[in-house]
Amino acid sequence: MPDITVIKGGKVIFPDRVKENDIIIKDGIIECTDHSGEIPECAEIIDANNMYVAPGFAEIHIHGGGGYDFMDCTDEAFEKISEIHRNHGVTSMLPTAVSCGADDLTELFDVYRRVIQKKTKTRFLGIHLEGPFISDAMRGAQNPRHIRKPSEYETDKLMECGGDIIKMCTAAPELDGAEYMAEAMKKHNITLSVGHSNGTFGDIEKAMRMGFRHITHLYSNTPGIRKINQTVYAGIPEAAYYFDEMHIELIGDGHHVPAEVLRLALKLKGADKINITSDAMRAAGTDVKDSYLGEIKPENRVIIEDGVAKLPDRSYFAGSIATGDVMLKWLVNKCEISICDAVKMLSLSPAAVVGEDKNIGSIEKGKLADILLIDESLDVKKVIIGQKNAS
Ligand SMILES: [Zn+2]
Repeated sequence: MPDITVIKGGKVIFPDRVKENDIIIKDGIIECTDHSGEIPECAEIIDANNMYVAPGFAEIHIHGGGGYDFMDCTDEAFEKISEIHRNHGVTSMLPTAVSCGADDLTELFDVYRRVIQKKTKTRFLGIHLEGPFISDAMRGAQNPRHIRKPSEYETDKLMECGGDIIKMCTAAPELDGAEYMAEAMKKHNITLSVGHSNGTFGDIEKAMRMGFRHITHLYSNTPGIRKINQTVYAGIPEAAYYFDEMHIELIGDGHHVPAEVLRLALKLKGADKINITSDAMRAAGTDVKDSYLGEIKPENRVIIEDGVAKLPDRSYFAGSIATGDVMLKWLVNKCEISICDAVKMLSLSPAAVVGEDKNIGSIEKGKLADILLIDESLDVKKVIIGQKNAS
């Protein structure tokens, strides 16, 4: 007998409108989004009681939470991070690696492969490599010891041991070897993202020819207009706005990007081309004051102050401690944008960046039933995750 669930009486957040509708889920897939009339007798009924019914959030840039980092390379870390972020609305994620050695990456791939065989709290969509092929000048809080150029040898090795599970790669396209790397990654359908880059407008134009279509945390280590040897060059934000095909990511914790900039980006790019990420680190969902970015090692120590992670000398932010509903509240309450746009930038737009928008990201017939019930205060009250193997 099919497994049928009906979500009744909720205000459903579609990409372009909010409408009171009943939703029918059959075997983990959204079967109907505008049900009226009889409810099948065998159905489980969830009374949404005037709450919002939203698609689950997709996090394509997330390092940790609940005291764990994916770079811990343990099953427990994967479980705890997904659990803490799921409780705040994230139903899919890309575990994100910081710059590290090749052996550490291999270990991360091994854990990932093991974990996805099990029942997990969220859907893992693949791994996001944020480095090591980034600009030393724009490394931010990343460990300089591990930053390097993409050699052909290392690119080939990386594709050999992780090409099937790497979903996205943040790199500096101006580095020597980037072209070879991009070519190799495109063969594995890996989303190429400009980030921690010192590139000029011209470098980004070249990057687009290489296949880059996304910018990782715009305004964090993505410099704009600048003078080099008495000549003025446009930079990354200018290119991000100029090229329509470019998608951008903004950190939505309310610290990295001012509300005015979010509104400017929305005006210039539209919600389809902006995804909001937490870039959350280990301390997300906890109240600790001391933590680590990446592996637990003295050199990776960071402090948590005023609701954001910083390097101990306060020279750089070191990731956020935000969770999904914190970002939703910032978008709606502080940036004063519509709940449709806010939810889209947390669900459909990030899913599109990694080619998963056909399966998840909106409440639409045929998509996986990853659904949130959210109350009037924008707190996530219930999380439903549809069947796992439908993609
Ligand atoms: Zn990051």
